[in-house]
Amino acid sequence: MDLHAFFRDEGIEIYGEAALPALSERDREYVLEFFPPGESVIVFGEAVPVDTHSLSARKKTDIMLGIAERLYETAIRLEGLLESEGIPAQHVPLYLQIRIEDGRVRGVVRLKQVAAAAGLGIPGKNTLLLNAEHGPRLLLSGVVAGESNSINTNSVQKQENAEDQGNQNPDICIGCGKCINACPAGAIVPDGVEVFSCRMISPWVPGPVVPIVKWLIGRQLLLRCMAPIAPFIAKTATIRCSRCVTECLVFGGSEKKIDSMGIFSIKKENRWIIRALLGIR
Ligand code: SF4
Ligand code: SF4
Repeated sequence: MDLHAFFRDEGIEIYGEAALPALSERDREYVLEFFPPGESVIVFGEAVPVDTHSLSARKKTDIMLGIAERLYETAIRLEGLLESEGIPAQHVPLYLQIRIEDGRVRGVVRLKQVAAAAGLGIPGKNTLLLNAEHGPRLLLSGVVAGESNSINTNSVQKQENAEDQGNQNPDICIGCGKCINACPAGAIVPDGVEVFSCRMISPWVPGPVVPIVKWLIGRQLLLRCMAPIAPFIAKTATIRCSRCVTECLVFGGSEKKIDSMGIFSIKKENRWIIRALLGIR
């Protein structure tokens, strides 16, 4: 099976595969709970164009939803392709793929962490995946496959290249903290985002009902009730805030961060200078 050709036909340039041993223990558990035959996760993404973020909230939401839905349709087609080759597969849902753990909302399959393991970027302080070329603007989708190394030799090359890319940019996130300071809700904390404080969610779930909503999510009750109407809600809702994306130093990609600081071009090996200038470790 030539997944290179599949992604080329789908018009997707950013993709990779993370075998289960490459994931953290927690992510391995999540994947196996989601799909017990899983041996790897094929993850892929598309960048939201920079200009999208200067459009009205309605237009921005529509564009991002369109990208997310296209990726999701690709995931369904990939699942079908794998299964036609006798490989068990399960696409990661587009909506409501959430769980409650330690009182926090988490993804059922954490695609950002999977994408990092597949070499597509690194996790930033803003908790988003930072891709060398597109910064924090990637939307992701994925398929759990019951076979690892589904991407053939050529694709492995591609994956290795992606890992190289990540390794060559270990400091895509320079830890400047701009994203944390820019968050109007103080929702970005050291171990993640307080989802119910985030302005994307808080208008829908007022503080007093948060405990009951968490309880319902934990028991899958809310998810079952909401599943049929989730696409409708997604289409009517608007993205009210994305400052953790737009204020990130690498919003336009890691090569543009220096320009955005208005200083001068500094090579990777000399990035300690920026840290020293900003007084960060
Ligand atoms: S979307 Fe806005 S409120 Fe939510 S974490 Fe990002 S900056 Fe904070
Ligand atoms: S704003 Fe700075 S600290 Fe936050 S993710 Fe971007 S580079 Fe990292």
